[in-house]
Amino acid sequence: MRPTDFATRTPTVESDPSRPCPFCPGSEEISLPPIDSTGNEDDWRMRVLPNLYPAFAGEDSLAVRNLGPVHVMAEASGTHEVFVFTPSHTRNIIEFSDATCADMMVTLKKRLLDHAATDNIRYTQVIVNHGREAGASLAHPHGQLLGLPFVPGEILDEERAFVRFEGGCILCATVEAELVSGERVLFATEDAVAICPWWSGGPYEILIIPRHHDMHLPDSTDEQLAGVGRAIRDSLVYLNNLFDDVSFNLVFHTAPHHHNGAYHWHIHLFPKLTTVAGFERGTGVMINIVPPEQAAAELRRVGTSAESR
Ligand SMILES: [Zn+2]
Ligand SMILES: [Zn+2]
Ligand SMILES: [Zn+2]
Repeated sequence: MRPTDFATRTPTVESDPSRPCPFCPGSEEISLPPIDSTGNEDDWRMRVLPNLYPAFAGEDSLAVRNLGPVHVMAEASGTHEVFVFTPSHTRNIIEFSDATCADMMVTLKKRLLDHAATDNIRYTQVIVNHGREAGASLAHPHGQLLGLPFVPGEILDEERAFVRFEGGCILCATVEAELVSGERVLFATEDAVAICPWWSGGPYEILIIPRHHDMHLPDSTDEQLAGVGRAIRDSLVYLNNLFDDVSFNLVFHTAPHHHNGAYHWHIHLFPKLTTVAGFERGTGVMINIVPPEQAAAELRRVGTSAESR
C-alpha cells in the first residue's frame, strides 16, 4: 500500500531528422530485400526484413567451445528478422483493424514454419518492443523474430512447469479456473482469454491464452490466430486507456520447433511501469505492488470504452 506514482514513462523514441526512417514506404532501398511481404510491392501492408544489425546470424549448428576453465563460448548463429507490420510510422497494433490483426498473425505463422524448416534453428523468439523504456530503438512500430540455435532457459523452465503440473495442461486449467473466478479476467472471446495472471511478477502484467490447446503457434488455424491477434490488440487498448501511451514488451512463447510434449503457446504483455531493481536482481524474487485482481479490475473498468476506438 505504499504511495506510488507511476510516472508515465514517455515512450517516445527520438528520431534523427537527418536520417529517414528505414521502415517507412519510400525507404525500401535502405533495407535488404524482404524475406516476406503482404500487399503489392509498391503498396505493401507488412514486410519481414533481415535485420541489418543481427544478434544471431549464420547457418552453423550450436557448437560449444571451451577456451579456458571458465571461458565457454558458442557462435551466435541463427537468424534475426525485423517484422514491419505497418507502413505507418505512427499507427501501432492498438489501431489495427480486425483484418490487419489477422494479417499480422498469419505472417508470423508463415515465418515460424519457415524457421522450423531451417536446420540450425531450434527456437524462435518473437517480440514487440514499444517505446524507449521497453528497449525500442526505432520509432516505427515493428516486431522482431530471433531464430536461435538453442532452446533458452526461460522456455526450458516453462516446459518443466507444464510437465510438473498434474492436472492436465496448466494453461487450459488456468483458463477454466480464471473464468470461474472472474477476478483476474480482462475479457474472454471464442479464441482467447486475457488475464492478469495469478503469478504476475509486475503490475498490470497480462497473459493472453489461446482457447484452443496448441503447442506451437503455427498449429493454430488462421481463424484462431486472427482471434488471438484481436485479443492482443484489445489488451493493448485496455492498457492504453489506463496509462495512455505506455511502453511495453509483447513476448510470444511457443514450444521449441521440434519439441513435442507439454506446452500451450501464449503471449505475455509486460507494460513497462516499474524498474527491476537491486532486490529483484539480487534474489530473482519479484515484488509486485499491484495485485493482479486489482490490476484486472482497473483494466476492466476502463476497458474498451467508447472514446478509445
Ligand atoms: Zn517509419
Ligand atoms: Zn492447454
Ligand atoms: Zn511464457
